[in-house]
Amino acid sequence: MPVEWGSRVDVHVHPSRYSRHGALFAEKNRVEYSPAGLLREMDTAGIGWGVFLCPRLAPTLEEGLQNVSEVATTSGGRFLPTGTVDPTRGEDEVAHAIELWSRNHPRLRGVKLYPGYLHFDVTDPRLEPVYRWAEQARVPVWVHQGDTSDPDGLIRYARPIFLDEVAVRWRAVQFVLCHMGNPWMEEAAEIAYKNENVYTDTSGLLNPFAEHYDGQIRRMRTRLHHTILAVGDVRKILYGSDWPISSIADAVGLVEGLDLPEPDKERILGENARELLGLPEDLAR
Ligand SMILES: [Zn+2]
Repeated sequence: MPVEWGSRVDVHVHPSRYSRHGALFAEKNRVEYSPAGLLREMDTAGIGWGVFLCPRLAPTLEEGLQNVSEVATTSGGRFLPTGTVDPTRGEDEVAHAIELWSRNHPRLRGVKLYPGYLHFDVTDPRLEPVYRWAEQARVPVWVHQGDTSDPDGLIRYARPIFLDEVAVRWRAVQFVLCHMGNPWMEEAAEIAYKNENVYTDTSGLLNPFAEHYDGQIRRMRTRLHHTILAVGDVRKILYGSDWPISSIADAVGLVEGLDLPEPDKERILGENARELLGLPEDLAR
């Protein structure tokens, strides 16, 4: 099936101004670390839109939102902005975030949570207003799951099993379980299989700094295939790269190389996310 220009969606990119290791990954992946550089990679792969997950390292909520909004505007709407908040900073911080998101809605297309990096449970009561806002604003919540690129992350906070409780309690909210919960991919598959409001993304599954990179890609493609079979519904699987942690070429290649029918792969690479985010069939040029 030929790729229509711009019909695909990357649900997980970080063309951020605030990043500790972004430039290192970009250099290793031999990509240009800028929103313009990312757009060129997206063009080559037929990707119309990228969901820009709000950086957690911005000094303030305002600066994080400003970063995603500016990049979204400069890209002509091809980057979809999201917000984030650290609930460990307290109720006032959460309330302030929601006030800012409301002001930016409906431009804001989602919320990203970083439980492993920031050491909070997804069931933390301080997050109730966040889930309530997502329900009212009808935007999905992306939740980082599994391994953290920062060794100071605590991955017990990033186990997919805990998202089950949140998904059950907030049935009207759509969740994106990021990174298929790697290394807990079977666990992630169960949560996405069991809960109609949980999707899972293919982002950040490759580590360009690991030895035997080609072997790693083969291993991960097999695990990805098994995870998709375990979920049992290809509509729940969303392509993402985690750029600049993976280049677009490597992340798309991981999916394109799967032993699945072509229409299923195109669902993963675009159709599912277009349905979830209410995007048109193709990016109008
Ligand atoms: Zn990410």
